[in-house]
Amino acid sequence: MTKMALIEVQDLKVHFKIQNGWVKAVDGVSFMIDAGETMGLVGESGCGKTTAAYAITQLLPPNGFVKSGFIFFKEPPRTRLLRLEYDQMFKGNPKGREREIATMRARLTKLLEEKRDIKDKTGQVKSKGTPEQIERLDASSAEVTELTERLRALTYFYDLLAKSKLKDGRLDDFNEEIRKIRWKEISMIFQGAMNAFNPVFRVGDQIIEAIQLHEDVDDDKATERAKALFNFVGIPEDRITNYPHEFSGGMKQRAMIALALALSPKFIIADEPTTALDVITQDRILFEIRKLQEQLKMAMMIITHDVSVVAEVSDKIAVMYAGRIMEIGKTVQVFKNTAHPYTSGLLGSFPSIEGERRRLISIPGFPPDLVNPPPGCPFHPRCGYAKPDCSKVVPKGIELEPGHISYCHYAKELQPNLRRLGG
Ligand code: SF4
Repeated sequence: MTKMALIEVQDLKVHFKIQNGWVKAVDGVSFMIDAGETMGLVGESGCGKTTAAYAITQLLPPNGFVKSGFIFFKEPPRTRLLRLEYDQMFKGNPKGREREIATMRARLTKLLEEKRDIKDKTGQVKSKGTPEQIERLDASSAEVTELTERLRALTYFYDLLAKSKLKDGRLDDFNEEIRKIRWKEISMIFQGAMNAFNPVFRVGDQIIEAIQLHEDVDDDKATERAKALFNFVGIPEDRITNYPHEFSGGMKQRAMIALALALSPKFIIADEPTTALDVITQDRILFEIRKLQEQLKMAMMIITHDVSVVAEVSDKIAVMYAGRIMEIGKTVQVFKNTAHPYTSGLLGSFPSIEGERRRLISIPGFPPDLVNPPPGCPFHPRCGYAKPDCSKVVPKGIELEPGHISYCHYAKELQPNLRRLGG
């Protein structure tokens, strides 16, 4: 039995076309988030974490191209298993895959035609159906279900990118299926909530409009829901008639959370939800996020440069650098058994979350130019442990304990000596 991932990002590459080349903002990123799980995506600004989020919500700017990868959403475990089997079976053999798809489609069409001959549109058996044909109906229904599942696995039916990706790699902004999923199933709390609301409309009206845009509910019901959302995020419901400028920064951020929750999505991406807020307001927002996790059991991805934020609210962490994942694992694994020099540097440059006094060490050097990223391990120009092969060979993932993977050639040797949380 495989694990049920709500969202699975596989080998995602998103590049931006600029005048002098391509910015490889996301360059082969993979991760999974289960239903009800929160993952922190951490890294310095410009490492590609926000681009990854915009690829999931399909809100990339016009110069953003998806060069490869998949984003599977709500894929049933058995379909995932079949997909992995087919990927293995047809590795390097796309023609074979196409033939298999054609054979299955032909068989499915035949079965459905047979079914139509025996039953009418309402499901009643037609007079011309023979007893043998009718007997076959049950068997053929099971085969139809099986074939449908196999075809979905073979054709990447649950891949959000397959629905909207154009031939050149751009995403179709007007794809109907994606428009239905965005906000209703996958929602986002944007960085800088201060500007997310239109200043000339009341905050409550903007939430009501979002509800009515996607659901057929009257004004009274939508207003009731907006008030309930205000209550949930700790804003008095009589503030529903206020304009954005009448809210403090923290209230705007909470109203943004209410807006993101308006359609009860399954998955929320929060981009730097506490940046630019004072410490007390940050605490309040983290409290709201924990409430979302506990009461609504929704999956979340929290994007931040601040490791103390992910330490508070994440079940797992993915550390990104130069468009790639450097280390991924459960929060406790990454913080306590740190296995990548970059993660170690990141942890060392923040005050200890556990309150111990220690010297902060910033990572030397600068993040690389993503138009011409360094060959091999992208961190090698800044890494104090780099060896000659680090600048030549791209590190493969090394699994140190179940689910804890480091993309460093020397993860095993370095792990005992790396600075970690509280270290
Ligand atoms: S692969 Fe080499 S350069 Fe990269 S983090 Fe590991 S030791 Fe440092």
